[in-house]
Parts: sequence; structure tokens; C-alpha cells
Amino acid sequence: MMSPVSNWVLITGGSRGIGAATALRCAAAGWDVAINYARDAAAADALAGQVRALGRRAVTLQADVADEDQVATMFERLDAQGGRLAGLVNNAGIVAPVARLEVMTTERWRRLFEVNVLGTLRCCQQAARRMSTRHGGAGGAIVNLSSRAAEFGSAGIYVDYAATKGAVDTLTKGLARELIGEGIRVNGVRPGIIETDIHAASGMGAAAAAAASTIPIQRLGRAEEVAEAIAWLLSEAASYTVGALLDVAGGR
Ligand code: NAP
Repeated sequence: MMSPVSNWVLITGGSRGIGAATALRCAAAGWDVAINYARDAAAADALAGQVRALGRRAVTLQADVADEDQVATMFERLDAQGGRLAGLVNNAGIVAPVARLEVMTTERWRRLFEVNVLGTLRCCQQAARRMSTRHGGAGGAIVNLSSRAAEFGSAGIYVDYAATKGAVDTLTKGLARELIGEGIRVNGVRPGIIETDIHAASGMGAAAAAAASTIPIQRLGRAEEVAEAIAWLLSEAASYTVGALLDVAGGR
């Protein structure tokens, strides 16, 4: 039976890949799910239907997390649904074509940092204003999607993308300490190589598949395996876990 007051989790980039798997996992755990997406409304709508089939509320919210006004409007539209924002998953993220530093452009760096870093900062800010007991909120949990690339650095592949995830890790640790006294737990998840569409965008599709033999577990990960970690960090079962960076990477 549906609970009378919605506890919303907002998942950015929720229309496919890790975000979509997280939406379904969170719905199964009893969350009402707000699905943000950039372009693919049909995929977001179909996923919302799957969430509702699990007995939870769902809303789809189009917004480019790189756009400050669109992010603000997205949170206002979620406010208008009623209930409270209790969870945020900063999952929206992009890569760029495989390249060495010498040939990268400032435009590429700006886009990567706008989406992966500033997008995460903006959504954390909007969520903190709603969740923090300092602002009359009832607390909550935030999970930021980083990457094992933050540690390895992705030399010769995309050092700029790896640098964005290093920034996400540092933000996660700092914000966790800033907000825990106000009822908000902030943590991060650092996936290894997961089977999603993201690798096609960088031209790494075949290389990602071929990397399986270099991973100690000898296979790529599945989006559902990352979603499981995210859902745990969002849950009360992780009540003492603050500022953790949880690697979900098959030993990589
Ligand atoms: P994906 O399959 O490419 O999905 C990306 C999602 O983000 C889509 O829902 C997309 O929406 C959305 N999105 C892209 N740009 C956006 C923007 N500017 N504003 C709002 N939404 C946007 O990616 P994924 O593999 O699931 O990755 C999810 C996260 O995990 C990312 O942060 C990524 O860096 C991280 N990660 C992934 C891997 C991996 O191997 N897959 C490894 C380490 C870390 P549309 O479909 O509407 O465009």
C-alpha cells in the first residue's frame, strides 16, 4: 500500500543506464521516484510506468543539469508534487571522445565540468536547501556518482573526465562533513566499467568490452549491481556511513 506522505528520491540522468536501474531499485525499496533526463522523454516515461507498476509514485523532469535555471525549475516542479525530498542521486554524467590532452578543447572541458561537477554542485545545493534541518527540513541522503577513473586518471583516454570525478570525490567528502550535523548523509559510489551506453559516446565501446579480462572479477559490471550500492547508501541501513566512497568495480 502506498504511504500517505511521499518520500521522493530524485535521480539525475535517470532515463537509462545506472540511473534507470537505480530508479527501479529505489522503487522496490519504497521510494517515490523523480526521474530527471536530458533528451530522451520516451525512455523516462517508460521507466516511470515501470516505477508505478511497482506501486510507487513517479514523475519525469526534463532538465539539463548544466543549466542553473533548469535545475532550479526542476526542484520547484518536484516541490509541487507534494511530499518531501529525502534522497538525491547525482548520477547524470558524460564522457567525451577518447583523446590525449594535447588535442582537447576548452569547450570540451567546460561541458564536462558543467555537467559532471557544476551539475552535481547545483543539485546538492538545491537539495540541501530543502533537506537541511538548518532550513527547516527533515534531513535526507545524497549519493554522488564518481568513478574509479578518479583514482586511475584515465591516461590517454580522457584525463579531463577523470579530473571531473576527482572533483566529485572531494566535494562528496567535504559536503558530507558540512551537512551531517544537519541531518544529511552524503556519500559517493565509484563504479568500475559498467555495461551501459556511455562507452559508445566516447568511442570506447569495443575497448570497454575487451577490458573484461583485465578486471580481477573477469567481467564488466551491470547497472543493477551499482544501483544496489546506491540504494543501500540512501537507506537507513547506512545510517553511520558518511563521506564514504564505495568502489563497485569488481576488484579494479
Ligand atoms: P549513460 O548510460 O550514458 O546515461 C546517462 C544519463 O545521464 C542519461 O539518462 C542521460 O539522459 C543523462 N544525462 C546526460 N547528460 C545530462 C545532462 N546534462 N543533464 C541531465 N541528464 C543528463 O551513463 P551511465 O553509464 O549510466 O553513467 C551514469 C553515471 O555513472 C555517470 O555519472 C558516469 O560518469 C558514472 N560512471 C559510469 C561508468 C560506466 O562504466 N558506465 C563508470 C564509472 C562512472 P538522456 O538519455 O535523456 O540523454
